[in-house]
Amino acid sequence: VVEIKNLNKSFGSTHVLRGIDFTVEQGEVVCVIGPSGSGKSTLLRCVNLLEVPQEGQVFVRGEEITDPDCHLDAARSQIGMVFQQFNLFPHLNVLANCTVAQTTVLKRKADEAEKIARSNLERVGLHDKITAYPAQLSGGQQQRVAIARALSMDPTLMLFDEPTSALDPELVGEVLTVMRKLALDGMTMLVVTHEMAFAREVADRVVFMDAGVIVEQGTPDEVIGNPQQERTKTFLRRVL
Ligand code: ATP
Ligand code: MG
Repeated sequence: VVEIKNLNKSFGSTHVLRGIDFTVEQGEVVCVIGPSGSGKSTLLRCVNLLEVPQEGQVFVRGEEITDPDCHLDAARSQIGMVFQQFNLFPHLNVLANCTVAQTTVLKRKADEAEKIARSNLERVGLHDKITAYPAQLSGGQQQRVAIARALSMDPTLMLFDEPTSALDPELVGEVLTVMRKLALDGMTMLVVTHEMAFAREVADRVVFMDAGVIVEQGTPDEVIGNPQQERTKTFLRRVL
C-alpha cells in the first residue's frame, strides 16, 4: 500500500536519506529503529511530504504523492500522523480536535464528523473526555486524542514518530495498548520507536536504519533477536 523508491533527502550539505527503498503492505505493522540522527523522522516526514525529497518516489495506494501534480491535501488526508509532541489544537476541546479536519478537509457534515470522532474516541478509551481541553489532559490522554483525531480521517496508513518518547513512564503503556489494538484491527502502521518490547511483539517487520540507509530488515526475531549486521548489534547492545 506504500512504496518508497530510491528516496534521497539532504538538508544543505547533509545527506540525510541515502537511497531508501521499501514497501509497507496493507495491514502490515513496520517498526523503524535506529540511532538518533539516522534519518527516521525525516523518512516519515517524506512519506507524507512534510519534507520534500530531492530524489525518489513515494506511492500511496499506487498514487505517486511525490508527483508535483498530485493533489497534496487529498493524498495527505489518507495518511494519519502521530508525533512525539501531541500537536493538539490547544484552543479546541477534544471533540473539536477530532472533527475540524473532517469538516474542513473532507467536507463532512458536522453531525457525521461528530459521530465518527465519538466512535474513535471510544476506541482510544476517551469517550468521557470529549468536552475537555488538551491542557486538562495527561500526556497519555493527549496522545490518545491525537490518535483518535488521525483515525477520524479514515487513513490508509498511520505514521507514528516516537509516540511515547515524551511521556512519563507510567503513561507509556496506555498509548502502546491503543496502538497494539489498532495493529490487531488491521491498520497499516509505520512506527518509529525506541520501545523494543513493543516492536518485538507487534511489528510484522523491523527496519534498522543508520546514517540514512536501511542496514537490515526482517521479522522482529531476525532483526532484534538475531541481527546480522555489526551496526545493528552495536545499536541493540546500547538500547536493550
Ligand atoms: P532521533 O532518534 O533523534 O529522532 P532521527 O533518526 O529521527 O533521530 P532525523 O530527525 O531524521 O533523525 O534527522 C536526521 C539528520 O537530519 C540529523 O542530522 C538532523 O540534524 C538532520 N535534520 C533533520 N531535519 C532537519 C532540518 N529541517 N534542517 C536541517 N537538518 C535537519
Ligand atoms: Mg526522530
